[in-house]
Amino acid sequence: MIKYLFYLGILWLTINSVFAAKLAVVIDDFGYRQHNEEQIISFSPNITIAVLPHSPNAKQIATRAHQHGNEVIIHLPMAPMGKQSLEKDTLFPDMTEAEVKRVVDEAVSSVPYAIGVNNHMGSLMTSDFDGMYKVMKALHHHALFFLDSKTIGKTQVKNAASDYNIAVVERDVFLDFQQTESAISQQFDLAVKIAQKNGHAIAIGHPYPETVNVLRQKLANLPSNIELVKISRLIPPLSPKHKPTLKDIFKKFKKRFEKLPNLNLVKPQ
Ligand SMILES: [Zn+2]
Repeated sequence: MIKYLFYLGILWLTINSVFAAKLAVVIDDFGYRQHNEEQIISFSPNITIAVLPHSPNAKQIATRAHQHGNEVIIHLPMAPMGKQSLEKDTLFPDMTEAEVKRVVDEAVSSVPYAIGVNNHMGSLMTSDFDGMYKVMKALHHHALFFLDSKTIGKTQVKNAASDYNIAVVERDVFLDFQQTESAISQQFDLAVKIAQKNGHAIAIGHPYPETVNVLRQKLANLPSNIELVKISRLIPPLSPKHKPTLKDIFKKFKKRFEKLPNLNLVKPQ
């Protein structure tokens, strides 16, 4: 009888872990608040951390997280629409391709072990197709995925990434837009509900003391049908790079030419 119960228990655990909904938690703005950040890392190796490339502690905290088993992504600063204080090398839509490439390359070398990127702020930048196209062009050399923080509804991240075969995932919930423990707790429950409904969800938070407290409590009491997962578990496999057809090439050039000013080159007199 005991043996039977034991096997039933194993079966239940197996079914539960196969069918558990996946919740990824990403904590942004790493590199400034060492104490809080170390606490967050200590909660679980499945929390993903997003490091600001020009923060004073970028290299150390990325290395520490990696050693603990946490996945690291680059929290790439992008221009917002509002007037907020900006990180060094914030990306703007009107930067040249070369400038964008320099910023991206420097960010990659400042954040060791990064496997992806998400945007810090960016309502202005991520809603601009040409701006994001330059970012994707610079990123595709580095084989990183892009997590769209979705700081604006009409984001161009997916459109811009498609030409470069860069995997894109999107945030579902911001945990701490309102910085009180009760609000953060409600947002965490919302992320759990979305995961239970869709099978997966991505929540983004910040290393605020209130967020640290809520995470400590919530992660220790996750519902049994929810699995906290590393962000890489939610990245869709890339379709094998298809050879561009003549139609694709024509479409791409048409997009470019439509943006050029009227040159009036071939007007017969
Ligand atoms: Zn941020």
